[in-house]
Amino acid sequence: MRFPAAILLLLLAALTGCRAMPAPLKLEPVKTDAIIAKAAAHDLVPVGKYDPSIRQDLRYSTTSNVFGRVLYPAGFPALATGPTAKKLAAANRALKPHGLRILVLDAYRPPEVQWQLFQMFRDDKFVADPRKKWSKHCYGCAVDITLTDLSGQEAAMPSTFDDFSKKAAARYTGTDPAIRRRITLLQKAMTDAGFSLYEDEWWHFNDLTRPALLNGPPTHGATIGLPSSN
Ligand SMILES: [Zn+2]
Repeated sequence: MRFPAAILLLLLAALTGCRAMPAPLKLEPVKTDAIIAKAAAHDLVPVGKYDPSIRQDLRYSTTSNVFGRVLYPAGFPALATGPTAKKLAAANRALKPHGLRILVLDAYRPPEVQWQLFQMFRDDKFVADPRKKWSKHCYGCAVDITLTDLSGQEAAMPSTFDDFSKKAAARYTGTDPAIRRRITLLQKAMTDAGFSLYEDEWWHFNDLTRPALLNGPPTHGATIGLPSSN
């Protein structure tokens, strides 16, 4: 049987593309301090570096995510670029007088994990397609966050994290006045601090003040001491 040349070329391109994508991370626990030390050389710092009251609950470190799968090794810290962490601290400061605090659900995301996410959910409205461009999470200049009260109790928001539906939209169309107040305060604090909203996900904020960063390659997990599975 003979394949037309165009189909053969397409097959080859697809195979080459797949080979270029990274393998998943190993899931054995890692030493947080060692990762933080290595990440510093790549302009990635803990998200709470400038405000330790910012907490993290990385949903991909657990099965509490839409995929029901652990994707980050235990001990993996929430990281962001230095300027992004500074802006997050400014937003948290603005929220505290309202009795609210930032909880980070995802921040720097190793390209190894981005590729896995895309393979599980191939809709680049919600998961950026690495074959076109890497997610801003892979550069440490995007954060997924929600709010807690000052005691750390998670607040109700328009939807759960990674609810890939219309309820996830940044523009709240529900009727709960408490949720409306919180999402308005969150968006004002984040935009005042220099972040931009993402219209399809209320929890996602971009720090686009260094566009040149996005022209280069993202930082792979392997570079900061997160071994991959091959
Ligand atoms: Zn995000």
